[in-house]
Amino acid sequence: MADPAATAKADDIVVCDACPVLCRIRAGKTGACDRYGNVDGKLTRLDSMLVAEQVVARGGAMVPFREGDWSGNLLHGTTAFVTGIGAGTTYPDYKPAPFIIASQHRDIDTVTVVTEGIFSYCGLKLKIDTDRFVGPEQAAVRAEGEQVGHVTTAEYGSQMLALGGVRHLTGGSKKEGVVTCDTLLTLCNKGAVELAVDGGATMTVQAGQAPIINGVREERMRVGCGSATIGIFARQWHGHVDEVIVVDDHITGVLSEHQAGRFLGLSPAGVRVRGKKSTPGRYFQVANPGLGWGCTDIKDPLAIIEKIDPKTARPGLRLLMVSTTGEDAAYFILDEALRPVPAEMPPPVAKVVERIGENCEPALTSVLFMAGAGGSLRAGVTENPIRLTHSIKQSLVRVTSGGAPVYVWPGGGITYMVDVLLMPDNAFGYVPTPAIVGPIEFTMRLTDYQALGGHMDHVRQLADVLEEPRIKRTGWRDANPWPLEP
Ligand code: SF4
Repeated sequence: MADPAATAKADDIVVCDACPVLCRIRAGKTGACDRYGNVDGKLTRLDSMLVAEQVVARGGAMVPFREGDWSGNLLHGTTAFVTGIGAGTTYPDYKPAPFIIASQHRDIDTVTVVTEGIFSYCGLKLKIDTDRFVGPEQAAVRAEGEQVGHVTTAEYGSQMLALGGVRHLTGGSKKEGVVTCDTLLTLCNKGAVELAVDGGATMTVQAGQAPIINGVREERMRVGCGSATIGIFARQWHGHVDEVIVVDDHITGVLSEHQAGRFLGLSPAGVRVRGKKSTPGRYFQVANPGLGWGCTDIKDPLAIIEKIDPKTARPGLRLLMVSTTGEDAAYFILDEALRPVPAEMPPPVAKVVERIGENCEPALTSVLFMAGAGGSLRAGVTENPIRLTHSIKQSLVRVTSGGAPVYVWPGGGITYMVDVLLMPDNAFGYVPTPAIVGPIEFTMRLTDYQALGGHMDHVRQLADVLEEPRIKRTGWRDANPWPLEP
């Protein structure tokens, strides 16, 4: 089918105007992004257009509603949602969006404006659920030697990377832009990429998979910081050990000094750890970040013991040292000279160490795509773009990406984030400007669409759109809310 985007035609060449590259495409060939081609002298969006359909009850069985005369509508509402995946673009949106689709849901007339946005202002936030040291905050993150982002503020139990963004896409060398675009696209489409951090780790990351850091696949996200671990398990250790030190790069916890230990009536054990005391039983900077215990650079846990006070400590004192994932643990008993001597861990103590591991969640990588849809893309929706922005902020318009729910940031513009794992596979593309192409849909009541200055003369019925030959159907992801639901 010919794309609704206008094409200039000379001889057998069509000019694609779906992005600023303006490819001149010969018959039978594709443009630079492989998304558009010259098919029989017509500019054609080559990929299928994805329609996600709900599974509905029919004759007592839950079946996809695919067969027969399918309008996409059932008695109680629409079961088909046309996503922006493969919809095409109308950049720079001096024309209405490729599809403006009317349907009925629960007796309400609705409209969904469907397009593929071209995002120069976009990037990824990677949340990597491990405390393993990946590199210092602000350090450059590289792919193929090019900087594609940086290490940003760590979150509780997770390392965070900020990748992409307009500076790396368009503000550096051509190679930096190309590699950044490629890295974003692979991660958006749920593929794996190799990254290297200046002064830090090399890693392989992929949405929904455990990160591989310096060649080792991470298994556990820590149960909490050292102090939290003390708080959670203090009661279970009580009576089985005299002191527990939970080694952690952030806050190392010391049971007998900690509020939890005091609450249980523990006596001070006289084992003093290195680092900066924050509050009782909580120590910062006991070691440097690294690949050892509790994501410090410590291989021997005794190295963080500054001294054992003979006035307080006593021979026979039972000491457990453990990391925040329970992956490293050692048990000691003080001898007559108050030296910690390794000893076999009693079963009740080992059980709590195991329980730390049991309480750790798997180390996963989450990839959130973040982009600004507040530019010309809005003109494809309405002739008065600020009204779209306001309507979204007023919750009159629901924004989705490939049918997945998005989070729209407060304040100005339409800056949104979406978890790529909630989207269909291969939902993203690119153009060589370079920029990422991503699906976006705006759903609202028909009356609201009219009120915000929508392109009413371009509204098409869902049943009509579903006749398009490029349609490809897929099942709706049940975990995602139905976009037409009020
Ligand atoms: S890069 Fe793709 S979208 Fe841009 S003009 Fe070329 S074919 Fe069209």
